[in-house]
Amino acid sequence: MRQPLVAGNWKMNGSRAFAGELVTALREGVSALDRVEAVLCPSFVLLPLVAELVGGSTLQVGSQTLSEHDEGAYTGEVSGAMLLDFGCRYAIVGHSERREYYAETDRQIAAKFAAAQRHGLTPILCVGETLQQREREETESVIREQLEVVLAHVGVAAFQKAVVAYEPVWAIGTGKTATPEQAQAVHAFIRHVVAERDSEVAEQLRILYGGSMKAANAAGLLAKADIDGGLIGGASLKAEEFLSICRQA
Ligand code: PGA
Repeated sequence: MRQPLVAGNWKMNGSRAFAGELVTALREGVSALDRVEAVLCPSFVLLPLVAELVGGSTLQVGSQTLSEHDEGAYTGEVSGAMLLDFGCRYAIVGHSERREYYAETDRQIAAKFAAAQRHGLTPILCVGETLQQREREETESVIREQLEVVLAHVGVAAFQKAVVAYEPVWAIGTGKTATPEQAQAVHAFIRHVVAERDSEVAEQLRILYGGSMKAANAAGLLAKADIDGGLIGGASLKAEEFLSICRQA
């Protein structure tokens, strides 16, 4: 049995006041749900505050990225050790916005995945195709490549302590959600790629859907066999939306 996981990716949004209100509104509601694990991923500067605010609740904290290096002369970067020290348990790696706007490569993403695990953080590895790639029927080959670079770097056993998020780029922040059937097909394919190397690891791997998931469309997606939760952007900034998705997971 895979425990459902719902993670909120706040992206570059929020303030101290906003974080205070949102976490206060979520704490009780989330703690009342014993089935689902909920994670908040604020920006680096808000992390220490959010980690403090979630104290005593079941809410967990994650980062939106991390450095592939452990320490040293890497101006502007934040290491896995620092994130753990400040209360993080998860780290998103390979989000499509990082791939697109900051030119993160599959090799770098694999290194970040490994860095997260070296420091005791659970990576949430994002994969997904663009609209053009979907239209050219390249979805499976794109996702296979994104997964295989990481699998080759860290080995399949590392996926025992990792989460994968399928985030079709064309669905992120666009209001266009993949249909439950479209998403399920890709989730099953992701599990199949991992199962080619180790079927037990694949069976217990949590695979989240991300891309315009909200309270109104979550149930259909979450009902699918291989969809184990969500990585929520826009809707994670609203307490009622996020809580409703957690309840449906
Ligand atoms: P969205 O973002 O829910 O706003 O589409 C999801 C994500 O980018 O993780």
